[in-house]
Amino acid sequence: MLVWPYRRRLMLSVVFGLVAASLWSFELLLTFPITIMFGEHSTLANYVAHEKSATIIAIEARKRQLDNLDATLQLYPENGERRRLSERVVVIKDQQRQQVELEVYTSKLWLLTWVESVVIRNLPDDPFRMFALLFGLILLVTFAKGAAGYFQDVLAGGVAESVVIDLRQQMFRSVLRLDPQTVSLQGPSNWLTDLTYSLQQLAAGMTELGGRVVREPFKAIACLAALFYFNWQLTLGFLLFMPLLGALFHWLGQRLKRAANRVVDSMGRIYRNLEETLQNSKAVIAFDQAGHHRRKFHRENKSFYEHAMRLVQIDAMSGPVSELLVMVAASAVLLPAAFLVLRNTTSIWNIPLASSPPTFPELALFYVLLAGVLEPVRKFSKFYNTIRFSTAIAERLFERIDCPSLIQTPQAPQILSTVSRDIEFRDVDFEYARQTQGQGDRGLVLDGLNLKIAIGETVAIVGPNGSGKSTLVNLLPRFYDPKRGKILFDGIDLKDARLRDIREQVAIVPQETVLFDDTILENIRYGRPTAADEEVLFAARRGHVLAFTDAMPLGLLTPVGEQGKQLSGGQKQRIALARAILRDPPILILDEPTSAIDAHSEHLIYSSLRDFACGRTTILITHCLTPVLLEFLTRIVVLDRGQVVATGSHDELLQTSLVYQRLWLAQTQRFAA
Ligand code: ADP
Repeated sequence: MLVWPYRRRLMLSVVFGLVAASLWSFELLLTFPITIMFGEHSTLANYVAHEKSATIIAIEARKRQLDNLDATLQLYPENGERRRLSERVVVIKDQQRQQVELEVYTSKLWLLTWVESVVIRNLPDDPFRMFALLFGLILLVTFAKGAAGYFQDVLAGGVAESVVIDLRQQMFRSVLRLDPQTVSLQGPSNWLTDLTYSLQQLAAGMTELGGRVVREPFKAIACLAALFYFNWQLTLGFLLFMPLLGALFHWLGQRLKRAANRVVDSMGRIYRNLEETLQNSKAVIAFDQAGHHRRKFHRENKSFYEHAMRLVQIDAMSGPVSELLVMVAASAVLLPAAFLVLRNTTSIWNIPLASSPPTFPELALFYVLLAGVLEPVRKFSKFYNTIRFSTAIAERLFERIDCPSLIQTPQAPQILSTVSRDIEFRDVDFEYARQTQGQGDRGLVLDGLNLKIAIGETVAIVGPNGSGKSTLVNLLPRFYDPKRGKILFDGIDLKDARLRDIREQVAIVPQETVLFDDTILENIRYGRPTAADEEVLFAARRGHVLAFTDAMPLGLLTPVGEQGKQLSGGQKQRIALARAILRDPPILILDEPTSAIDAHSEHLIYSSLRDFACGRTTILITHCLTPVLLEFLTRIVVLDRGQVVATGSHDELLQTSLVYQRLWLAQTQRFAA
C-alpha cells in the first residue's frame, strides 16, 4: 500500500481525529447542565439534590417491593402444584427486574453523591457565574477541538500529498517500462490525462478529505456512545436504520464511480483532440479546417459537461437524502423519548424503554446528541462521494501502474556479449496488436521471414511501401517481439537475453528524427550521456553537423526548439546520425535516413556513413540506391509482403528479382523526371 511508508503520520493524525471527535461529544454534553439551569431547578445543586432525593425514594420503593416479593414467594413453594409454579416464575422475574432497577438507582445515587460532594461543592453558587464558567469551558473545549482538528488535517493532508507524488512517480516509471506498442495502443493522450488531470483530481480529493474522513465518523460514534450510555434501548432503535444508510451510500458510490470514469475518459478525449489539433496546426490552417476542429472540440467539451454534471447531481443529492434518512432515524428516538417524558413512564406498549422515566433536560440532551450525529453523517455523505471519486480514479491509476509490458525479460537471462558472428531472423511471423486492414488473410506483417546478416556487413533493405521493412528492423532492439519464430544474435534468442544487453548493441536512426527541446550539443550527447564535450564534438564533425552549426551564432549550443522545429529535415538527420556515431554501436540501423533531404545532405550523410560503417554491422532501409551507397553496400535484401524475396548485389538482383527490377525502374524514372 502506498500509505504504508507514512503510517506513523497517519496514525498520529487518527489519534488527533479521535481527540477532536471526543471533544465534540463532550462539548455537546456540556449543554446538559446549561439546560438544567434554565429549567425548574435553576441551579445545578438544586437539580442534583432533587435527583438525589428522587433516587433515594426510588431505591426505597424498590427495596420495599423486593421485601414484598420475598414474602409473596413464600406463598408459592418450589414443589407446589403446576399453576402455582408458573405464578412463582412470574414473581421471580419481577424480583429480578426490581433487582436490576435497584442496582441502576444505587449506581445513580453513587454518581449523584460524587457529583454533589466533588463537583458541585467547587462550583460557584451564583447561576450567572456558573453559566459563564460553563461557557468558558465550552470555549476551551472548542479551542482544543480546533487544535486537534488542525493537526489532524495537516498530518493527513501531508500524507495525501506525499502519496500522490509517489503515485505520479510510479506511473512515470511504469510508462518508461512499457513497450512502444502498448503505449501507442493505450494512447499517449490517455496517459497524459491520467498523469495530469486524474492525479490532480485525486490530490484535490485526498487533501480535501484530509483527516476529516476519520474525524466525522468518530464524531458520530462518540455522540452515539453518549446516547447509548443514557438510553441504550432507544439508541438501538436508531441504529436499526444504519444498514439502510449504508445501502444508500453504497448505491450512490456505485453510480459515482461510473460517473467518475466517464468524466476522466471524456477529459482524455479532450486532451487527444487538443494534441491532434495543435500538433497538426499547419494542416489545420492549410486545409482551412479550423471550423471542423472547433466543432469537434465543442462536442467533446459538451460531453464532458454532461458527464461532469452527472457527478455534480449525484454529489448534490447524497447530502439531502442521507440527512433525511438520519432525520427519520432520529425521530425513532425522539418521538418515543418525548412520549416517555411527557407521560412520565418507562415503557411503550409494554416494551420497557428506560429504567426510569427520562427528564426534560435528558430529552434536550438526546436532541443535541442526535444533532451531533446528524451533522457528521451529512458531512460524511459529502466526503464519501469524494472518497468514491478518488478511489475510482486511484483504481484507474493503479491499472496503469500494473499494466504489463508486451516485452517480457526472462527471470534468468543469458549473457549476451557483443555480437561477433551473425544476426538471424528465423521463421519470423509478426503482427501488430491492433492490425490495420489489407495485410492479407492472416494479417501478418512479417510472414515466415528468414534472413541472416553476418557481422560487418552493410545491408540495404528495399521493398515496396508497407512490405514490412521498418517492422523488421524494429524487432532488433526488441521494440516488438515476433509472434512466431526467433531472432538470434550469435545463436542466442533475443527473448532469452537482457534488454539492456541488446539495446547497448543496437542504435537506430528512425525515419522521423526525434529531437528534444535542448541544444544541438545535448541532443547529440543523448546517444551517450556520459560522453565528454570533445567526444560530442568529434561525433558532430563526423556526422557533418559542424558544417551547418559553424554558420550559427551559437554553434553547437543553438537550441533546436520543441521537437527540433527550428531545424531543417537534413540538419535533423545529421544530428541523429552524429548521435548514433557517438553511441558507437556494433549494430547500426538507419530507417530511410535520406528520405526528406536534399542531394547535398544525402551525399554528406552517405560519405560519413561509409567511414562509420567500417567495422560494424549496418542495416539501412532505403528507397534510393545512389552510386555512393551502392559502392559500399555488401548486399541488398528485397522484401515483399513480409517476406525476403531476394538477396544479392545490385547487379545480381537486376538479373534475378522482378520486384527489385520494378523498384529500380521506379527510382531511375524518378531521377529522370
Ligand atoms: P515499410 O517500412 O516497408 O513501409 P512497415 O513495416 O512500416 O512497412 O509497415 C508494414 C505494415 O504494418 C503496414 O501495412 C502498416 O500499415 C502496418 N503497421 C506499421 N506500423 C504499425 C503499427 N504501429 N500498428 C499497426 N500497424 C502497423
